Amino acid sequence: MADMVVVRKEGLYCVPGQFYIDPWRPVERAIITHAHADHARVGHRHYLCAASGVAVLRARLGPVSIQGLAYGETVDHHGVTVSLHPAGHVLGSAQVRMEHGGQVWVASGDYKLQPDPTCAPFEPVRCDTFITESTFGLPIYRWQAPQEINDEINQWWRRNAAEGRTSVLFCYAFGKAQRILAGLDAAIGPIICHGAAQVLTQVYRESGVALPATVMVGDVTDKAALKTAMVIAPPSAAGSPWMKRFGDYSDAFASGWMLLRGARRRRGVDRGFVLSDHADWPGLMQAITATQAERIIVTHGSIPVMVRWLQQNGWQAGGFDTEYGDDEADDGADAASATAQEGAPHA
Ligand SMILES: [Zn+2]
Ligand SMILES: [Zn+2]
Repeated sequence: MADMVVVRKEGLYCVPGQFYIDPWRPVERAIITHAHADHARVGHRHYLCAASGVAVLRARLGPVSIQGLAYGETVDHHGVTVSLHPAGHVLGSAQVRMEHGGQVWVASGDYKLQPDPTCAPFEPVRCDTFITESTFGLPIYRWQAPQEINDEINQWWRRNAAEGRTSVLFCYAFGKAQRILAGLDAAIGPIICHGAAQVLTQVYRESGVALPATVMVGDVTDKAALKTAMVIAPPSAAGSPWMKRFGDYSDAFASGWMLLRGARRRRGVDRGFVLSDHADWPGLMQAITATQAERIIVTHGSIPVMVRWLQQNGWQAGGFDTEYGDDEADDGADAASATAQEGAPHA
């Protein structure tokens, strides 16, 4: 039987359904797994995504034509029954289930199995072929419980505040920022969001996700309050003039890469917190097993290692070459290099 999904120069293509999944070149019909920039690009004629992801997608892409589908709701495209299922990655993230001719394929987009109060939990979907991401697809990647990381972040903030130093936490503005906000102890001090994070945080609130109050730095009139503040900013803000107003501050970076590449990545920041919106190795294996799929196709990340491991363990496995990036790695590189170049004037 012919493959239901193939790679074309525009992106992953569902042949019988005549639509693309997270295409990297402009197409007629795109199903978007989530609104991270490398998966959700501008220029497609029709967008379909999870209903809970429509507001985020619109905030990032502007007034494009988007159809929202409730999780589990089905739609027919040329005889392919399509439905979206929670991926647990960020607000509105979805796996795409496609059923045609008695076969079921699922494309995962990005996903994680760890609990995250800012989005719907990952749902295993039974299928014959599972297309999985592999951002952290090496056995060395194992995450701590999210509550431990939240506690570490709050302890770091509390100590800085007690010593009269602003805490600046660099993280991806969409998804990671809101997940961190949800775990902050707002009793410690005011929470300041950089504009890039503030816009998306507001979209989360309007979508019904409970997050602590945040302000923009211009709204802080009591300058003494800055000394006890937590600042959530994208890595691109590191070393920028925007940072100068904080005077003496301690900075940190939150990413899954902090686990291994910490020494290099942390050169420019004081702390690294290992927090990822992607599945770790046990999570990937748990998700793959839960699908009961016989065939696994691995996308962006550690493709050769995971394919070999899967083949040795009884799966039919192969890889798809895609143009999806790595949000966490890009962020890490930005933070380290930007801060190093500017020679950050802080303790
Ligand atoms: Zn993503
Ligand atoms: Zn991705």
